[in-house]
Amino acid sequence: MSYPDLRVTFLGTGTSGGVPMIACNCVVCSSESERDKRLRSSILVQSHNTTLVVDTTPDFRTQMLRENVKKLDAVIFTHPHKDHIAGLDDIRAYNFFQQKSMDVYANPLTQEALRRDYYYIFSEKKYPGIPSIDLHTISNEPFTVGDIPVIPILVHHLKMPVLGFRFGNFTYITDANRIEQEEKEKIKGSGVLVVNALRKKEHISHFNLQEAINLVEELKIPTAYFTHISHQLGLHDEISKELPSNIHLAYDGLQINIPGK
Ligand SMILES: [Zn+2]
Ligand SMILES: [Zn+2]
Repeated sequence: MSYPDLRVTFLGTGTSGGVPMIACNCVVCSSESERDKRLRSSILVQSHNTTLVVDTTPDFRTQMLRENVKKLDAVIFTHPHKDHIAGLDDIRAYNFFQQKSMDVYANPLTQEALRRDYYYIFSEKKYPGIPSIDLHTISNEPFTVGDIPVIPILVHHLKMPVLGFRFGNFTYITDANRIEQEEKEKIKGSGVLVVNALRKKEHISHFNLQEAINLVEELKIPTAYFTHISHQLGLHDEISKELPSNIHLAYDGLQINIPGK
């Protein structure tokens, strides 16, 4: 499948509470380094003519202002946890300037949460100025957003099914602690993989650092970035030194270019 040149921007790389975490005095939360300041996890994926965001975090407004995103074509959701959907209300700005509904792609489980949490978007009588969305259902079939092909990848987050996405040569997986063999096949061959690595200690619903490293090695991924990072992982600069040379900790604002094919 051919795909255009892509630019990926890390809008946020933190776990649900963000880093620093409110009221925490630990060494990471007290760090002055910009690399230790992590908004909630989300990426922007852009081709020459299409811009999409994966998840709308509680920091969505801050993230879009920081990256100066003037045009947004679609939102793609991974799963219905609040740290991934809480920013949806702020797509209103794009409704206003683009004069159209926002295309929103989600699986049935996430759609159920959207209908509950954003009941007013779906109400019969709409209050003026509320967000306007066009919901599209993600099944396990590939789809395209503008000129960007998207392959959904099913991963597991404790018991919750979560979607990862492959965009050409680039795969993004957040909030997973288990991936079945069949889905791993969809990731193989990616030049760049982003995957969650919460902390060193094991966790019930996220890969820890070693499990994430093992996945990158098992799938023989040339270049990987870790995201959805907790303050418990440690300082960015210190942990970075411990990683294999092809694996990096992502940080907010990091951009990577994925050549098209
Ligand atoms: Zn999360
Ligand atoms: Zn989650």
